[in-house]
Amino acid sequence: MADAYEQLLRKIQAGLQQKMAGEQAAGEQEESLLIRATGVLDAIMEEFQEQRTDLERVQYVSQMSEIQTFSLKENYAQKSAEDATNYEKVYDMLVPNEASANKALDVIKKCLLKTPPEDTLALATRYMKRGWTYLLLEQFDNAKVDAMKSLSFKCPDEQMWNAYEILGHCYAMSKEYKEAEAQFLKALEYLRKSNISNEVKAATTVRIMSVFKTVKGKKQKKASSAAAEKPATRHVPQLSYGVNKRFPSASSAVNFVRSPMVGRCALAQRDIKPGDILIIDEPYVTMMNADVCGSHCYNCFSYCPCPIPCSSCAKVSYCSDSCYAASWEKQHKMECKVLNHLMDPEIGKVALLVFRALVMVSWSKLQKLKEKLLTVIDEEKCEAPNLVAEEVSTDYGNTDTPLSSTKVSTAILLFYIYSF
Ligand SMILES: [Zn+2]
Ligand SMILES: [Zn+2]
Repeated sequence: MADAYEQLLRKIQAGLQQKMAGEQAAGEQEESLLIRATGVLDAIMEEFQEQRTDLERVQYVSQMSEIQTFSLKENYAQKSAEDATNYEKVYDMLVPNEASANKALDVIKKCLLKTPPEDTLALATRYMKRGWTYLLLEQFDNAKVDAMKSLSFKCPDEQMWNAYEILGHCYAMSKEYKEAEAQFLKALEYLRKSNISNEVKAATTVRIMSVFKTVKGKKQKKASSAAAEKPATRHVPQLSYGVNKRFPSASSAVNFVRSPMVGRCALAQRDIKPGDILIIDEPYVTMMNADVCGSHCYNCFSYCPCPIPCSSCAKVSYCSDSCYAASWEKQHKMECKVLNHLMDPEIGKVALLVFRALVMVSWSKLQKLKEKLLTVIDEEKCEAPNLVAEEVSTDYGNTDTPLSSTKVSTAILLFYIYSF
């Protein structure tokens, strides 16, 4: 059994890799021929490094024909009913064996990522299957979340009896016997109406009845006040030495000035001790590393055991429908279909961040800001030799991004500003 599973999984993964390699090769050939050809990128970077000011960098980049004719072609991890079905076959081999439940969980998550959004019955069934796996693993809260998600697709109840059974078990475990009883009754009713074989019906009825009898009429424990838990609040530290009057996100212990020697910089207004909090601010844009896209929410970054995949791509997932909606509206609808470009390690880790900075600011806002930005850039131009170091250390400090790629990102951003 284990061998057959490994073999089938390897086959599917090899197939997927081959497919991805084929798609990528076809798309990339014409697009990156010039920029990635050996030596060409080095030459461009060398010339780029010689530019002394932001204005020169913008001018250098904007005269490149590749930039002038640049357009992002669709390139993203696509849904595939076929791949999803193959993953489901592997899943079906792994359950109800409890020993392989963790593997089954991993496979059904991949299956859900690949399932096309229009196939609602498949989605509902697969969420239910993930819920069943959590039940095997005795993770009842997660099982409940998935069973409810499965029912939210409003598929025919005769096909969803299993989701009601999961809920019954979950409520029974949390000693909410009334709810458990109601869910088991629904499971039995819809199981009767379902078109599965009589043998399976009989066996399943016995299984449900054995638990149902233990909860029927049992006195429910009173919900403790602890059950009405408050939502977890995130600890936000306080600024040391009070709020700065000019910069509300900063402590009054620092001031920001523009110096002819070092450019824009922060100056201490008093002695500062190790551990003092000097700035607290919401990030303007954020991004998540590609390698945790399947396990963490793409919006709030929290770990999610019951990920809800994006309906459009097979790359990112969310902890809840509300996180999905917020992310889609704010950014993801603009980046979903070009995400493979933006997360391509070849173009540096900050590409997605730069893209989001552009998307967030909006075209009309940029037009309004143009005059102001040009003045700032003009002032900084005079301080160019010092500005370079300052710009990198304040804007992108502590990242392992190569200096050249940081400057390219800045230059592309400025190119947009200059080009309308
Ligand atoms: Zn979230
Ligand atoms: Zn997407």
